[in-house]
Amino acid sequence: ARAEVAYFGAGPAGIPTPVLERGAAAFVNFEDSGLGLAEISHRSSTATKILDETKKGLISLLDIPDNYDILFLHGGGSGEFSAVVFNMVAVWVEKRRRKAQEQFGDDDEAILLRVREELKYYLRLDYLITGSWSLKASQEAAQLLDPLGQNFVNVALDARETNEGRFGSIPPEDTWKLTPANANSGCGSAFVYYCDNETVDGVEFPSFPQCLEAQAGENDRLVICDMSSNFLSRRVDVKKYAVIFGGAQKNIGITDITLAIVRKDLLGDMPPPSFLHKVGVWSPPTILNWQIVSKNNSLYNTLPIFSVWIAGEVLRALIVLHGDSKVAGQEAVSNAKAETVYRVLDTNPDVYQPVNHRDVRSRMNICFRVKDPKTEKQFLAEAEERLLQGLKGHRSVGGIRASNYNSVSMDNISKLAEYLTEFAQRKR
Ligand code: PMP
Repeated sequence: ARAEVAYFGAGPAGIPTPVLERGAAAFVNFEDSGLGLAEISHRSSTATKILDETKKGLISLLDIPDNYDILFLHGGGSGEFSAVVFNMVAVWVEKRRRKAQEQFGDDDEAILLRVREELKYYLRLDYLITGSWSLKASQEAAQLLDPLGQNFVNVALDARETNEGRFGSIPPEDTWKLTPANANSGCGSAFVYYCDNETVDGVEFPSFPQCLEAQAGENDRLVICDMSSNFLSRRVDVKKYAVIFGGAQKNIGITDITLAIVRKDLLGDMPPPSFLHKVGVWSPPTILNWQIVSKNNSLYNTLPIFSVWIAGEVLRALIVLHGDSKVAGQEAVSNAKAETVYRVLDTNPDVYQPVNHRDVRSRMNICFRVKDPKTEKQFLAEAEERLLQGLKGHRSVGGIRASNYNSVSMDNISKLAEYLTEFAQRKR
């Protein structure tokens, strides 16, 4: 029956059947060791090997440069909303502390006063809000910093403002209100945050924002990106980012692990916790502390090795499939699948309405309406009968959402396209 189901759920996503089958065996008895992967110690040599191979797979597929570390974390994408704030504020404070040290030498009191002042006046966290996940991330930042009695979050863009209160577009970069890179005697903002693909709203950045490109003579902007729902679906120039993170449960594997690709210099730039406390901010909680997780090879505490292994198998399958073209090969497949669906929607505009502006339509989460609301229910019911599953839009926005993650085959996309065409013909 599994082979007959075409699953378009938004996350967790499907996993390639061969990976699940090998996983089922490994869950019970891994490589004939007599123990399953959920039973072995995360500190065993087997676990370390699995961790290393999964990392290698990711490095190879995405061409991750040597000056980045790969972390396996807990708490999902949501956990990283908090981790970003804790870690990056600490990095910002450390930068200011070092600068003050240059000026004041070993006058600790003067250093502390200077950094306190700078924090109060200059700390900014820039968020580009293009959908409900970047919105949540910005709200988490505001919430975490609220006890400091100030709003440090700079909403550099809220895409709803120019789109009738709804997400669905990304306004031109020259309308964004980023903190100037060299503002405030070189303090700049602690980071610029965006979500590459908004899963609920179906909005995807077409490419890396030009205004975030490093510019000679300016402070390097630290760009943080949530790629939870489009990881491994297109090429990424990793060196443009300070941190890329995402939960595994869409394009990488099953839930339970979160991946972060972190530029190594940021991992060294942590002030002593006591200094942070004196300045008035918390040091990162240990399991969200990227520096500690990195130092411990992601084994500070118990890591779900089974989930890491599944991710490794998914990566290995992509490497085998695409060979030297690596993630560019998957990009071509993802684009072709998305185009197949959008083409049918666009050729039947009397029945279907893609909800987002054409230039930011997500290739991963294809959101549309059936124009007649009564027919929309029927569309979903008949889809279910045909074993086209998981098409219902997110409860907050309604409509239809066909998620086109890497495990969705072209065959299943074709089945969906056929149904879309046939349904439109009937409704005409
Ligand atoms: N970011 C994005 C883009 C997401 O799609 C999701 C989950 N769907 C999250 C963050 C939150 O991830 P988690 O459920 O792993 O906390």
